Amino acid sequence: MSFKTAKTLDSEAKEILKSLEGKTLKVKDRLAIPQQEMPQQDPSIRNRNMKEVALGYSESQLKVEALRCLQCKNAPCVKGCPVQINIPQFIAAAAEGNYEQALQIINQDSLLPAICGRVCPQEKQCMLNCTVGRSLKDPLKSVAIGRIERFIADEGMKNPKPPTVKPPTGKKVAVIGSGPSGLTAAAELIKEGHKVTLYEAFHRAGGVTIYGIPEFRLPKRIVEFEFDRLIEMGVQFRPNFLVGRTRRIESLIQEDGYDAAYVATGAGLPRFPDIEGENLVGVFSANEYLTRSNLMKAYKRGIADTPIFDSKIAVVLGGGNVAMDAARTAKRLGTERVILVYRRTQKEMPARLEEVQHAVEEGIELMTLTNPIRILGDKEGRVNELECLKYRLGEPDASGRAKPEPIEGSEFLLKADTVIIAIGNDSNPLISKTTEGLETTKRGNIVVDEFQKTSIDKIYAGGDIVLGAATVILAMGEGKKAANEINRVLAQEIADEKK
Ligand code: FAD
Ligand code: SF4
Ligand code: SF4
Repeated sequence: MSFKTAKTLDSEAKEILKSLEGKTLKVKDRLAIPQQEMPQQDPSIRNRNMKEVALGYSESQLKVEALRCLQCKNAPCVKGCPVQINIPQFIAAAAEGNYEQALQIINQDSLLPAICGRVCPQEKQCMLNCTVGRSLKDPLKSVAIGRIERFIADEGMKNPKPPTVKPPTGKKVAVIGSGPSGLTAAAELIKEGHKVTLYEAFHRAGGVTIYGIPEFRLPKRIVEFEFDRLIEMGVQFRPNFLVGRTRRIESLIQEDGYDAAYVATGAGLPRFPDIEGENLVGVFSANEYLTRSNLMKAYKRGIADTPIFDSKIAVVLGGGNVAMDAARTAKRLGTERVILVYRRTQKEMPARLEEVQHAVEEGIELMTLTNPIRILGDKEGRVNELECLKYRLGEPDASGRAKPEPIEGSEFLLKADTVIIAIGNDSNPLISKTTEGLETTKRGNIVVDEFQKTSIDKIYAGGDIVLGAATVILAMGEGKKAANEINRVLAQEIADEKK
């Protein structure tokens, strides 16, 4: 694909709008409108800076893209969105230039559209069943719903409306973990007038959106904007507070008088492949690598207190969003060669397609159907090379994906000084181990009912700690569901107390 500047894309959109002026658009006219490309930083420049890659639609591009929507009565796109945003309605408002109304429609179901518009796996969700994509026989050509959503959210941030909060109810709720799930729950709870305290292990709020997803994909100012609004609404923030260690959940409920607690502590415990050489100098979990760079700003060499490893050749193990983020971060930190090693083929990679494309454009090498069997070090115990095996795809496994099978005798050595492991995350066992009676699955995820209630009275849970490593929109959706239920239960308690 040839690279077009934001200016060119905007001019092309203006031309399209001119050609459509005064026309009553039929379905075939709308289907003929080309999908608007997202303006981006030039790959050869962006792979050396941390600034956002995607620059956002211009207003003309937004209007053209909104005109592609057929306003389908059955709206299959809505069924693909985990929180069922009324997509045709907000796109219609956007097409009219009524951005405030469009944002109100989105906000009925999602409180974090500037984040979801950027990082949602749209091609597997709302865009997957869009009639436009189906008619053009390519879901990637669907209406670019997330890009429209991002534009609307960014417009809303320029001129934010003051949030409204109901009078105090006298009820107190603890929210544990300040990722997308905790932030959403806190917003929904405080709006009802409950006193909300947000406990966070780190010194900053935002969870993975702050410490995991890099600035070049999700600028931190967006998460900070959402967090500042919560503080404005009256949420109390308790950073550097590790629930389960600093204080147990039972103590929050029984001694500190909380009427309910929502646990949204995520899935931040990295998995390791359990191979020889994992303890060598130069081996990192992607979590540690990304946290150093994003949260501790280690990429600001000479300014930040936290150091980051200088690499010449980095091998990243994995094929998901975390692996892409780690590989693209390593490139930006000046690593000469970044090689992403994955057991299956590019087609099976769980990462968003756009992120894989961006990584390749930025010079990340994909080494598929390959897996390391051990990491080898030099005399000083530093990573030197990896011994790898080649794989072929066999029959589908339990996950429905083709099972990778090792090819006997295919061992080879791969030179590297850094290995970043991004093969998945589990939930941190701290809360389940320190909370008697809290039911969890074998993998350590908290078990909840349909209202996000755990096995313990007054304690609710949601997001990655329940779902396993999932997505921002799903974590947000569970935060909203739990808050609605807590609000309902507390309203009932208040009514009973008045009797
Ligand atoms: P988290 O975001 O993990 O937040 C949990 C918070 O709880 C953290 O701040 C943690 O410090 C805090 N905490 C943990 N234990 C305690 C404790 N005991 N006491 C107090 N606080 C505690 N999803 C997408 O949709 N699109 C993407 O492109 C995408 N990319 C990703 C890239 C990376 C690198 C990673 C790691 C994940 C990515 N995800 C992506 C997944 C997504 O970010 C998560 O699904 C989502 O953040 C989960 O939200 P959460 O609120 O449940 O938990
Ligand atoms: Fe699509 Fe995600 Fe927005 Fe839902 S929240 S409409 S899935 S981009
Ligand atoms: Fe518009 Fe596609 Fe949804 Fe139809 S399915 S309403 S075309 S976004």
